[in-house]
Amino acid sequence: MLVGAGVSGIQAALDLANSGFKVYLVDKAPAIGGKMAQLDKTFPTNDCSMCILSPKFIECARNPNISIITLAQIDSVDGEAGNFKVTLLKEPRYVDEEKCTACPTCIGYCPVNILDAYNENLTSTKCIHIHFAQAVPAVPVIDTTQCLFLLRKECQICVPTCKNKAIDFHQQEEKLEIEVGSIILAPGYETFKPQLQSEYGYQRLSNVITSLEFERILSASGPYSGELLRPSDRKPPKRIAWIQCVGSRDTTVGNTYCSGVCCMYAIKQVILSKEHDAELEAVIFHNDIRAYGKGFERYYERAKNTPGVRFIWSKVSILRELPETKNVVIRYRVNSTAVSEEEFDLVVLSVGLTSPASNKQLADRLSIETNSYGFCKSSSFSPIKTSRPGIYACGVFHAPMDIPDSVTMASGAASLSSQLLSEQRGTLIEEKEYPPERDVTGEPPMVGVFVCHCGTNIASVVDVARVVQYAQRLDGVVHAEENTFSCSIDSITHIVETIKEKGLNRVVVAACTPRTHEPVFQDALREAGLNPYLFEMANIREQCSWVHMRDRQVATQKAQDLVRMAVAKVKLLNPLYQLPYDITPAGLVIGGGIAGMVSALALAEQGFEVHLLEKAKELGGIARRIHYTVEGGDVQAYLQELIKKIYENPLIQVYTEANVIEFAGYVGNFTTKIAVGPERIVKEIAHGATIVATGADEFKPTEYLYGKDPRVLTLLELEAEIVSGNGRLAHCNNLVIIQCVGSRESERPYCSRVCCSQAIKNALKLKEINPEMEIYILYRDMRTYGLMEDYYQEAAEREVKFIRYEVDDKPDVKVIQENGQSILRVTVTEPTLGQRLMIDTDILALGVATVPPADNTGLSQLLKVPLNEDGFFLEAHMKLRPVDFSNDGIFMCGLTHAPKFIDECIAQAKAAASRAVTILAKEEMQAGGTVCVVDKRKCTGCRVCQEVCPFNAIEVDAKEMVAVVNEVLCKGCGVCASSCRSGALDIGGVSDEQTLTLVQAL
Ligand SMILES: Cc1cc2nc3c(=O)[nH]c(=O)nc-3n(C[C@H](O)[C@H](O)[C@H](O)COP(=O)(O)OP(=O)(O)OC[C@H]3O[C@@H](n4cnc5c(N)ncnc54)[C@H](O)[C@@H]3O)c2cc1C
Repeated sequence: MLVGAGVSGIQAALDLANSGFKVYLVDKAPAIGGKMAQLDKTFPTNDCSMCILSPKFIECARNPNISIITLAQIDSVDGEAGNFKVTLLKEPRYVDEEKCTACPTCIGYCPVNILDAYNENLTSTKCIHIHFAQAVPAVPVIDTTQCLFLLRKECQICVPTCKNKAIDFHQQEEKLEIEVGSIILAPGYETFKPQLQSEYGYQRLSNVITSLEFERILSASGPYSGELLRPSDRKPPKRIAWIQCVGSRDTTVGNTYCSGVCCMYAIKQVILSKEHDAELEAVIFHNDIRAYGKGFERYYERAKNTPGVRFIWSKVSILRELPETKNVVIRYRVNSTAVSEEEFDLVVLSVGLTSPASNKQLADRLSIETNSYGFCKSSSFSPIKTSRPGIYACGVFHAPMDIPDSVTMASGAASLSSQLLSEQRGTLIEEKEYPPERDVTGEPPMVGVFVCHCGTNIASVVDVARVVQYAQRLDGVVHAEENTFSCSIDSITHIVETIKEKGLNRVVVAACTPRTHEPVFQDALREAGLNPYLFEMANIREQCSWVHMRDRQVATQKAQDLVRMAVAKVKLLNPLYQLPYDITPAGLVIGGGIAGMVSALALAEQGFEVHLLEKAKELGGIARRIHYTVEGGDVQAYLQELIKKIYENPLIQVYTEANVIEFAGYVGNFTTKIAVGPERIVKEIAHGATIVATGADEFKPTEYLYGKDPRVLTLLELEAEIVSGNGRLAHCNNLVIIQCVGSRESERPYCSRVCCSQAIKNALKLKEINPEMEIYILYRDMRTYGLMEDYYQEAAEREVKFIRYEVDDKPDVKVIQENGQSILRVTVTEPTLGQRLMIDTDILALGVATVPPADNTGLSQLLKVPLNEDGFFLEAHMKLRPVDFSNDGIFMCGLTHAPKFIDECIAQAKAAASRAVTILAKEEMQAGGTVCVVDKRKCTGCRVCQEVCPFNAIEVDAKEMVAVVNEVLCKGCGVCASSCRSGALDIGGVSDEQTLTLVQAL
């Protein structure tokens, strides 16, 4: 059972349902989606949040193994891991979910306007309302605190307006009893309430708003339909200030932790605001920019280099509102003596993430321990487990984190559940049943066209009604209509019904991108009894309304062109079919560090055979050099226990001194040749899924006298000396640590994420050994994100001195001979004093970059999977598929993906295992559809296609001299078809004839 259906709850539910389990997805809100459903776009890719979420909503809603229960909370849990009895309390919605068809009639009649919580109260909605346009379930809910009937038995006007008699004021709170084997808690967060800090003037000054309100303002479905306006006069702001750390890192409100996401979402909001108005001035007032995740530093640099954007490292105070303009005056410190005042049209408070009191109550009801902030308590080595066996936690309930980390942790929680219940896998599941496919051969084309508004994303630019009228006149079109959101659950149901009612045999949806939404609509066709390939999408958002947003005429004309082309093509489409094939239920894990071992063990504990490959003589990877975590966990004890478990598990075959020499096959059936041991014995392994966990290395610098003076060490070398009790540390009075050595520079423009906390961890350890030691940490931004902030505070309290330096004014390190002594001298500019400071140090430690291993390049070529520009492996999609490669059946975890901590590697390793199990647990998979088809009569066996195919999917049969396509490997990319000189190759659904017809239509 999943408690909380935000992005993490949804991900865990889908992973479990796809690996053979029945899932209850429970949320106390009227619809699933959590906070992510309120966000406009997400950093650092600027993907539209709803575009990511809505296909997942539909997948949950239409999966027979997921039961969505909204407006419900846990009342009690009895029993134990594997066998829990849960009582849920379900609030009345006063609308029957079975009878309601989501027609908006009742809403139209409701006389009561209330503030719209989804839009952060910036606009109003009706007392009976659907939570938001794409809500699942798409059923209205009545606000019990405002309904005239519920308050004083007046009104009930909605009741007779409903044809289906769905409005039911007799509904009562219900008790539901369900039996589950495991529970995953994903109840998420609340944003900090800035009214608790009156100095910000929130709710007193009309142009001081929260960052979540700003997300709604930016959103096309928001209060101002996506126009960037300020609340006081609905005019576009020209100067916006962001104030960071509101309600975070603040002892006065008790939230001393860092909320982990605010720096990045503020940067995102700056970038998006500048897209609205390139002339706009944007200032972020911050206390260190914590751009620590993959791709974040580049995103930060992009914002910094945008004209009109300033980052100011300073505390600020809000002085006053100017009565005539309602502008806000901010005062901030420029240096130790000077302050400055500036006027802004709009001020955004970057509010932190807090664990609401209801999370604490939930934890208490379930006898789960929480920490002092109300987040779920866990250990570095079992980050997803709660204090009660069989109950797991993920997402922000665990600690403040962004969407990729939430999604990863959710998959990790699914893996642990799946491990616990592996014997029951498949026992309760239902297969989705589709009606028999209608044979449309010989039928004249009966095309249905559905044109989407995408809220205002399309409709604010394109005249959708005109496009529909135009489509109605096209040859072969028998039905055309517009939908507010074609991908909402009620629209999908309506599309299915319309196909059946009108006897449609081809469908065009003119909406957004097929990349995220094509499978959703194809499934609707299949549900209506049509072959899913009799479908075409016209992208009138990315390719039309977004690029022609200033010219309605042109955009409408182009939308008509795109629809005409899609209709011309869809009429020529033929049914395509996929064929089932068996899979090999075994995994290959490449890399035997902590991440590789954890994922191998997770697979084996779910009953799958695993081959674990390690290039070194021993398992353990870089963790062999790490001794303690910042929280005090004993890494070596954990590592030894993990290695023992690996060797004791009969399903795991370990190969050390081994590496991949050949890799072939496809998802479900890979064949890998490896060379093992000093003798390089070659073995062949058959496996259905592959996990890459090849880790990373410590950067060896040439700066700061490293390698030239024995007193200069890396942080890992310092840690080794601390643990070995090296004598020179005992006599060390002064120690300097320089951060960002090799990171965040032109050669390596990424943050290595762990170094700030690593420095603090070692500083605290040294202070334990010798409280008198003078320790200086020279840093650019202290990135002790999340709960690690407390250790930063502790270090400051123990008088570790922190000095901020700029990248263009780096510390200088020299050896000076004085009085016959060799002195190691560090000079740095002290920013508040603006003066050079000289520190003579006994030891200089360097917080060096984490770098990908040199052999990643060879492995990426063998596996045909990409690396990013920094040499780390590149995931399929940062938000949607953070541990998947774009090549099916291959996953990644640990440092090979990007620098991260041990607990994060463990969570990601479990996530990779969970994703692999969605393949290994299947008896068969399907291949085919949009793949290459060979016309044997025309093929001359020239082998050009074989040579150009990037997926090795084509081989020429030497006997018959014709090309043969492996449908599982073929991705339908078309490189072969466009290279074929005899015109023998075509791609199903994109044949020459179909493509040329489309072009001719234009
Ligand atoms: C202004 C702002 C902008 C952001 N922008 C980005 C961004 O661009 N990129 C990014 O990666 N991250 C961003 N984030 C962070 C992002 O919102 C979170 O990482 C993510 O939404 C966390 O998802 P979750 O599922 O853990 O929690 P939530 O989204 O909070 O979901 C929790 C769900 O649990 C339900 N629930 C709570 N208690 C119970 C209970 N007792 N019983 C049943 N159900 C319950 C809630 O109703 C909710 O549906 C932003 C955050 C803010 C505040």
